[in-house]
Amino acid sequence: MAASILVVGSVAFDSVKTPFGQADEILGGSATHFSIAASYFAPVRLVAVVGTDFGDAYLETFRKHKIDANGLTFAEGRTFRWAGEYSFDLNERRTLDTQLNVFEKFAPVIPETYRESEYVFLGNIDPDLQLNVLEQIKKPRLVACDTMNFWIEGKLESLKRTLGRVDILIINDSETRQLAGVANLVKAAQKIMSLGPKTLIVKRGEYGVLMFHGASIFAAPAFPLEDVYDPTGAGDTFAGGFMGAVARDGEINERSIRRGIIFGSVMASFNVEKFGVERVTNLTRREIEDRFRQFKALTHFEEL
Ligand code: AMP
Repeated sequence: MAASILVVGSVAFDSVKTPFGQADEILGGSATHFSIAASYFAPVRLVAVVGTDFGDAYLETFRKHKIDANGLTFAEGRTFRWAGEYSFDLNERRTLDTQLNVFEKFAPVIPETYRESEYVFLGNIDPDLQLNVLEQIKKPRLVACDTMNFWIEGKLESLKRTLGRVDILIINDSETRQLAGVANLVKAAQKIMSLGPKTLIVKRGEYGVLMFHGASIFAAPAFPLEDVYDPTGAGDTFAGGFMGAVARDGEINERSIRRGIIFGSVMASFNVEKFGVERVTNLTRREIEDRFRQFKALTHFEEL
């Protein structure tokens, strides 16, 4: 069996409006999207906080995927809420509302039984908390991390300290440029890798993913889909599929990282087909493997 993946991040109720419909207070959050996607490949341990309004029906979603939710803290108050709206082409997102609620005082305590986790994903939270999580883990084999503009602007020094202990940084293209202070992605990647991460994965929405690893670059498209309803959580779902596939592989090298990127892209492509986690909670392994093969065909070509 694959080694366990520990994820720390948000569990939320999301309200999402896209040109194709809307959903109110559905299960979301970075750790939720990540763990459901990863659960198809490896055992997942979830560390997050929710409020007393987080009912048993939501826990059932985690149970269904055999996600270990012993690290989920129930705090007095309301669960984190986020609301966003997408533009016509779904490429731009406007945050309408963020209610931190119990998430405001989130100070992740890693349960004793989780401290030997080999694979760790630090979702987009305060970089000081990310570092604090790492200090509680004994000897991780692979640490991947996400962040966002808010922390790049407000806590750059803390973020740099965290990055010094991270193997893989997974962020979007605008965050890459902002973090490096360089517009060119190739140059930005070199600068970011000099801060610590050996690998940088740049998410580019419907244009796919670019991976930088030493002198090597790998590009993966996003799967061309006929129906895209809700991109929320695509990045975290990508990270979940990626880490899950790498953990299942058992070896950490450029081959497994490249394959992980395609599995991450596969999972993200399912995520956007319906609102929230609806599609990814109802997948079969067959569907995942089939789309992985379709991905291979999508980019296959032969030299003359
Ligand atoms: P993504 O679309 O991959 O960027 O992830 C969106 C998810 O991140 C949603 O499910 C939100 O609940 C969650 N989210 C939004 N803002 C924050 C925040 N400030 N901190 C943690 N999670 C957030």
